[in-house]
Amino acid sequence: MASVTLDHLNKWFGPSVHAVQDVNIHIEDGEFFGLLGPSGSGKTSVLRMLVGLERPTEGSILFDGVPVHNKTPQERNVAMVFEQNALYPHMTARQNISYPLRVRRASSETIARKVAEVATLLNIGALLDRRASQMSGGQQQRVAIARALVRDPNLLCLDEPIAHLDTLLRARLRGELKRLQRALGTTSVIVTHDPIEAMTMTDRLAVMRDGRLQQVGSADEIHNRPVNAFVAQFFGLHSMNVFTVDSCVDQGDHIAGRVGGQPARLPRTLERFLNIGRRTASIGARPSGVMVLRAADTAPAVEGFTATGQVYVTEQLGDAQLVTVQIADQSIQTLTPDPRAFEIDEPVRVFIPDDALFLFDDKTQQTRRFASRTAGDELAAIRSEVA
Ligand code: ADP
Ligand code: MG
Repeated sequence: MASVTLDHLNKWFGPSVHAVQDVNIHIEDGEFFGLLGPSGSGKTSVLRMLVGLERPTEGSILFDGVPVHNKTPQERNVAMVFEQNALYPHMTARQNISYPLRVRRASSETIARKVAEVATLLNIGALLDRRASQMSGGQQQRVAIARALVRDPNLLCLDEPIAHLDTLLRARLRGELKRLQRALGTTSVIVTHDPIEAMTMTDRLAVMRDGRLQQVGSADEIHNRPVNAFVAQFFGLHSMNVFTVDSCVDQGDHIAGRVGGQPARLPRTLERFLNIGRRTASIGARPSGVMVLRAADTAPAVEGFTATGQVYVTEQLGDAQLVTVQIADQSIQTLTPDPRAFEIDEPVRVFIPDDALFLFDDKTQQTRRFASRTAGDELAAIRSEVA
């Protein structure tokens, strides 16, 4: 096991592709760390440098403070599991798992003991004598993970290891991987484009975009205090709404503005976060912080954002519904436990309480004000007033 430091890491592919741009991350010994970002953001490139399959163009990688650039993957003793596992199809699970030990000429007793150990951990004892080609995708991926773990690596690197599996299996393997990592305590880095995977499995994670690190922190920190609108929209169960209010004018007790030409109202509290002289505000709110109201509904007694629009579409999610409201050229999604059926094109009002509002710099998109509420269920109090 080891701590891992990425120090001013850069990777160029040819003269024009700057795939990894000055990335600095410190991963603690035993930590489960996530690299999260959309496709092409440089995650795999970071991981390949970490394991030693690719050389950094600039910067360094240290294990326990010792530079490892000139070391091969074997010397680093890192294990990697890819999205498409590279099992030998004609070999049995046992032969695949023991392969790294046989290459190292481990004794047959050691091999038998280690294979039995990882097979128990991954619950694949019954599969050991089956050929890889005769296993399901989920079983193959378990065997691939077992093969990675069998030689007690310093570092376990996982590149989208469960991305191609079906939803139920993915959810189960998510939990299994987390338990496994906890039980072993092996420093692990998982690459994923799926915020839910990153959120549910890792101790801390880094959000990347276009080769650049956006934010490093726990899932809660990133969810509640996203540094910019990109992170806010990318990270979460549902994407954060980010929309523009223009023509803002101070009206004393509130700020009047427009959303795509439609009149809107913002709470006075946002005034000090608006750029002096700029009349445009870039507003954010998580769908769970937004309410959708009919004309007959009582307006909430607290301050907040309001505007009127029409229902664009509703999506039933079992215990809640996602209602998309179109306000002129912008749309706002609300995640609401409200059981009422809203009709497509029905006129409605959107209300977002002051403490659910984020504000971004309209030029740089950096966060200027965080919502103080963190969970959607805090809306319950306000909802009960409306009902
Ligand atoms: P991710 O894993 O986040 O999808 P990658 O690290 O695979 O991102 O890629 C980051 C960027 O580097 C992309 O623009 C990709 O096209 C480019 N890239 C990756 N590998 C190579 C390569 N071997 N040669 C040229 N460009 C590459
Ligand atoms: Mg990748």
